[in-house]
Amino acid sequence: MKTEQVAPGVVRLALMPLDAFNAYVIGDVLVDSGGRLAGKHLLAALSHMEIAGHALTHAHFDHQGSSHLVCEHFGIPLWCGEGDRAAVESGDLTRILPNPDSWLARVSQSMAGPAHPVDRVLGDGDEVGGFTVIETPGHTPGHLAFWRESDRVLILGDVLFHRNPMTLRIGLTEPFAFATFDPAMNRNSARRLAALEPAVVCFGHGAPLRDARRFAEFILSLPAG
Ligand SMILES: [Zn+2]
Repeated sequence: MKTEQVAPGVVRLALMPLDAFNAYVIGDVLVDSGGRLAGKHLLAALSHMEIAGHALTHAHFDHQGSSHLVCEHFGIPLWCGEGDRAAVESGDLTRILPNPDSWLARVSQSMAGPAHPVDRVLGDGDEVGGFTVIETPGHTPGHLAFWRESDRVLILGDVLFHRNPMTLRIGLTEPFAFATFDPAMNRNSARRLAALEPAVVCFGHGAPLRDARRFAEFILSLPAG
């Protein structure tokens, strides 16, 4: 598994080749855990680090797939946003999809990681691994981003993609509409993040972006509504 120091105290774990799926370690907190198949490699990579907690940007299968495994293995607590808590605790991830009867819902349930209790719900202003939590609902109801103002590092989960995880095409895009609970709400969350003017943006999918202007211009170009 490729690991990359993105900024002081921020390590990106590239869970698959081509930067298609990422998790991060911020301070002593793991953010996201990738899919179930990443579990063994993730445990090996984390065994060299000090990990005291695990937070989720959101509870899609490609972010929570190995969360139960990691929390059990290291005996650490799991944290997520209120809107995704029921999905995490029940293991029923279809409830945070736009259509719980879709093909995606069936795929999602076959790929989902096991249910796991949430020790703490995170919300605006909470501190995690030296970062501040920002609620960014839309892609899922309880989606979270993590922001460190001192050096303007932003971890935004799937508010935007920097690489399409299916086609592997590189570039800023909105996340798949078919997997986004409320696309208009997600766009509003993206606008709030653009206003922060981040120097480094870390994505669930794709390599980090160190171009604040391109980030802002992409979000400003999105249609209203
Ligand atoms: Zn994702």
